[in-house]
Amino acid sequence: MRFTRFAMLDWSSGNDTGPTPRKDAIWLGEAGREPVYLRNRDLAEFVLGAMFGAVVNAGDRLLIGVDVPFGYPAGFGKALTGSDDPFAVWDWLEANVTDTPKGNNRFQLADQINGGFPGIGPFWFNALKDDLPNLPRKDVRDGHGMAERRACDAAVPGTFTLWQMGGAGAVGGQAFTALAVLNRLRKNFPDQVAVWPFQTPETPIVLVETWPGLLNDAVKRAEAMGEIRDKAQVNIMAQAMAHLDAADLDEMLAVDATAEGWIFGAGHEDRLRKAASRIAPPPLRNDCFALPPGVDWTPVDTALNMLRDRLHPVTSPEPVSVFAAAGRVLAEDVIAKRSNPPQPNTAVDGYGFKGGAPDDAPRWLPLVDGRAAAGAPYDGTVPDGHAVRVLTGAALPDGVDTVVLEEDTTTDAGQIAFRGPLRQGANTRKAGEDIAAGAVALPKGRVLTPADLALASAVGHGELMVQRPLRVAVLSTGDELLEPGDEAGPGQIFDANRPMLLALAAGWGYAPIDIGRVPDDRDTLKTRLDEAAEKADVILTSGGASAGDEDHVSALLRESGAMEEWRIALKPGRPLALGLWNNTPVFGLPGNPVAALVCTLVFARPAFRLLSGEAWHQPKGVMVPAAFTKRKKPGRHEYLRARLRDGAAEVFKSEGSGRISGLSWAEGLVELGDGAAEITPGMPVKFIPYSAF
Ligand code: AMP
Ligand code: MG
Repeated sequence: MRFTRFAMLDWSSGNDTGPTPRKDAIWLGEAGREPVYLRNRDLAEFVLGAMFGAVVNAGDRLLIGVDVPFGYPAGFGKALTGSDDPFAVWDWLEANVTDTPKGNNRFQLADQINGGFPGIGPFWFNALKDDLPNLPRKDVRDGHGMAERRACDAAVPGTFTLWQMGGAGAVGGQAFTALAVLNRLRKNFPDQVAVWPFQTPETPIVLVETWPGLLNDAVKRAEAMGEIRDKAQVNIMAQAMAHLDAADLDEMLAVDATAEGWIFGAGHEDRLRKAASRIAPPPLRNDCFALPPGVDWTPVDTALNMLRDRLHPVTSPEPVSVFAAAGRVLAEDVIAKRSNPPQPNTAVDGYGFKGGAPDDAPRWLPLVDGRAAAGAPYDGTVPDGHAVRVLTGAALPDGVDTVVLEEDTTTDAGQIAFRGPLRQGANTRKAGEDIAAGAVALPKGRVLTPADLALASAVGHGELMVQRPLRVAVLSTGDELLEPGDEAGPGQIFDANRPMLLALAAGWGYAPIDIGRVPDDRDTLKTRLDEAAEKADVILTSGGASAGDEDHVSALLRESGAMEEWRIALKPGRPLALGLWNNTPVFGLPGNPVAALVCTLVFARPAFRLLSGEAWHQPKGVMVPAAFTKRKKPGRHEYLRARLRDGAAEVFKSEGSGRISGLSWAEGLVELGDGAAEITPGMPVKFIPYSAF
């Protein structure tokens, strides 16, 4: 039977500091539930007992991770208890640990155990005020005979040793108090609890040792959003376990039992990380579109800064082959697994030898048999004073550090002749001269270009963690709207916005979702917004965004309590309605196609970039001479439909906001800042091509 519940416990040997949730305390996370804060070990033992009881009564199966080692380095149990059975150590700890919410005897116990070992140690780090005879404060251990780490610790970087009793991150004390509690729990549920890997994981409750460091990237992402680290750890590990493929889980549990124990997922880190990546990101905050109070017209830059500060990715990462990753947003840094080039090689076709040629005297070198080609190295060493045939990309054979170009040589009877000078190392590439193993090849948040895929492949990646494409729902509102191409009656107009907005979304690499046209009817609009929020990560509506009688988008968002009317000091553009509908952000655009496009480019696009995991991006404009005359009043930003001709920006003949032909005529926008301006031909203006948004 499969597991039905997945949990992780983050233990602490610290003292009860009160009811306020904090880090470095005990946290219990379970997939599908909010993590709970357990303020002390008594409470934790009680809650775990209740949880185990509920699992058994309901016929569930629970896989629960605990962040303490279950076993010690080989030989410790025998030395302490006379037995190799790992539970003998658990029994010993249960019998000897005294523990209350206000303190415990872990340092005294370590001191007592050290007393039975030769030399100094194995435990160290007395953090008490008073000295203890056998527990040193510093690591001066010697001659105690125990290995420093278990086999599984060596396989997982960053784990602490069991011998360290104090200091940030130390697990020595945690293991004492946790194993005593876990031993009582397992004995209270005889035959119901298995401790992995010592026992077969076929019982209703299986305890596994987990190391949250395996999912550090995901934990760091949550921390960056203000989550308490330990809370994020239990939540992410429990959910990752729940998201594992059944076959992967079976494989992870199939390790040979050893008295040292094993870290769940060690050796399968990639699969655990992939499972963690399937966890949905947290929703946006309700007030993410709130404007500062008392401001009448918000300047464009203020509005953009607010979006930048409050939005975060709403898509989750997924692994994708480098052959399918173009245009996708990188979800984590790409670290070079291998240097490029991986080994020194030749940059040209020619002859390799050692030492360069310091002067222009002619020289003859006998050729060795064989050659080095890309993928077919020369095996053997080229003796000093000899040369070897080398082809571009071949690894430099031993004994070769310089290559002379084929064109600069003559060959005859098994020897080559050429003239120097040639510096040592000429025509070769050094290992890692392009990028060294371990370096960040590509930063997270980057939209992958074809060249990026070459780089990622060269440094050893066949698969990249990228964000799932943002799903953008588009709907138009207005009783007057008709489907393009339909038979039009009086007073009706064709829906021009939907085709434009859907195409923009597709062109930006998002997944467009067409929600269609909605009449000016509140109930219908409500149903369609529900549908859009269900299917998409973000909703783009056009029309009905002002405060009039028929402006139902803004009215509905206002009713739902998460609406902000953005009065941006911007032309063209009327109030934008921004809000959340069932936690999904809605960009309520003006109906006018010109204003709809400008507002989409200026506000929705940078916001979408953040929502889809991209870094913040300021569209890059170019300063060019104006080919027009324009007088502008202060107090608002203006965007003019424009195009570049002969190096200058010309603007559309009319600024009328109904002129759709001008949108199509233009190839970008000229941006004029908030101040007054008197523009005459030849003055520099900022032109932003549509493609730069
Ligand atoms: P509204 O924002 O709903 O007041 O609409 C402003 C203007 O834009 C009106 O003239 C509408 O008819 C027009 N309009 C609204 N939606 C569209 C659309 N999808 N396509 C073309 N024009 C539209
Ligand atoms: Mg309307």
